[in-house]
Amino acid sequence: MNYDYDLYAIGAGSGGVRAARFAAGFGARVAIAESRYLGGTCVNVGCVPKKLLVYGAHYAEDFEQAGGFGWSADAPRFSWPTLIANKNREIERLNGIYRNLLVNSGVALHEGHARIVDPHTVQINGQRHTAEHILVATGSWPFVPEIPGREYAITSNEAFFLKDLPRRVVVVGGGYIAVEFASIFHGMGAQVTQLYRGELFLRGFDSSVREHLRDELAKKGVTLRFNSNPVRIDKLADGTLRVMLQDGTALDADCVLYATGRRAMVDGLGLENTRVGFDQSGFIETDDDYRTAEPSILALGDVINRVPLTPVALAEGMAVARQLFRPEEYRRVDYSLIPTAVFSLPNIGTVGMTQEQARAAGHELKIFESRFRPMKLTLTESQEKTLMKLVVDARTDRVLGCHMVGPEAGEIIQGLAVALKAGATKRVFDETLGIHPTAAEEFVTLRTPVA
Ligand code: FAD
Ligand code: NDP
Repeated sequence: MNYDYDLYAIGAGSGGVRAARFAAGFGARVAIAESRYLGGTCVNVGCVPKKLLVYGAHYAEDFEQAGGFGWSADAPRFSWPTLIANKNREIERLNGIYRNLLVNSGVALHEGHARIVDPHTVQINGQRHTAEHILVATGSWPFVPEIPGREYAITSNEAFFLKDLPRRVVVVGGGYIAVEFASIFHGMGAQVTQLYRGELFLRGFDSSVREHLRDELAKKGVTLRFNSNPVRIDKLADGTLRVMLQDGTALDADCVLYATGRRAMVDGLGLENTRVGFDQSGFIETDDDYRTAEPSILALGDVINRVPLTPVALAEGMAVARQLFRPEEYRRVDYSLIPTAVFSLPNIGTVGMTQEQARAAGHELKIFESRFRPMKLTLTESQEKTLMKLVVDARTDRVLGCHMVGPEAGEIIQGLAVALKAGATKRVFDETLGIHPTAAEEFVTLRTPVA
């Protein structure tokens, strides 16, 4: 059968763009549909604007600390509208770059909402296009639990476009997005209360990391309330949002931000016209090669929720392009040792196993841990501490995990991820000379295991 395209990708986010560009580069006839914004979540309402706001938030401390180094200036003033306008301009620039990347690589860009009408046909803007393979790369969307008054809450999608900085913010959730936005709003000067339903936020991260960040955020003045969850939100006559908690207490706020996870974005996608199956949480189910139960349809990225991070979606996009159009170069994505950072203030950086995971996997462990006040802060009033931790297999000496809370943790852990991928032992860490004076050198000078 003659199809219009070899590959039709739905969603021009991290994964879809990568798959489409490389497939076209391999000689395939490719189209991509995008209904909202080129570059997807990461570029428009995710990694990129988030990091810009985190940079912005950090200036508060930079101004404060500058005094210790002899600098003085009038009290700094912060303009949220200026930051948002500048951020929007940068995102528009990136949207343009994505458009050029696609067009220059020969991908046909269809802007509109795509719907699958049968396993080889996509409808968009009233037109039908056939394809041998359809790739679903439609990403995810914030999930907000059904509580009365949820319509008064915003999600990260809206947080990036608030007209003014709210004075009092309640952040609900204890994952990546919640701690990042708690840090952002706090840094900008808002009063922030973060609510998390469990004992301690950042479930899945190393317990030292979770406790350390809890203590650092609390020291900075973020109010953390664990074992706490809203049951309803009311809007008072003066516009104040009143958040009622399980324990009967109430919190007043100007903004309630829900960051309670994300669901698969498959709205109006027409998957009911196919055999594509879903897991219990509504994400698309695929095999290890991103094939759904419908042989002509593949899926990747957040919509399959294997590891919802941009570098993972990029790797999956590349894998799909190779699998379909360069099978001789196809290798499955290696999901082991994925480094990740949480851009809270201070940052978390981590790669490999947590102490809890390593123990559960049966490893006998040596744990190395250091907490110190970074040199940069010694001339300042700041009492912020950095945490560095290594989880080592006592029998083989292999470093199983590196964890950090502190400035530039993501930058530091990226390098250590290479060492862990290469199978570095603690001895290799010990034999590596430090770069002095840095914070990072602490990772190669940890000598005594904690009891
Ligand atoms: P997306 O990037 O979401 O792209 C999907 C695209 O499909 C969207 O553009 C959407 O409009 C389009 N689409 C959906 N349905 C249709 C349709 N029917 N027709 C046409 N188009 C459609 N990851 C990191 O690695 N580092 C970070 O620092 C980071 N920060 C984040 C911060 C926030 C606030 C959020 C929300 C996420 C963050 N992430 C981060 C996660 C990262 O953004 C995602 O993992 C990544 O964007 C997933 O890529 P994707 O291609 O699967 O989907
Ligand atoms: P996460 O899955 O990280 O966190 C969701 C949080 O919401 C958890 O604390 C969870 O609690 C809580 N929660 C879930 N359901 C409810 C509910 N019904 N009521 C109250 N609380 C609830 O999701 P995020 O939305 O923060 O982020 C989505 C993903 O995007 C991340 O997992 C990450 O992969 C990616 N991302 C990456 C970033 C980065 O790389 N820096 C930054 C932002 C996002 P519990 O733990 O108890 O289940």
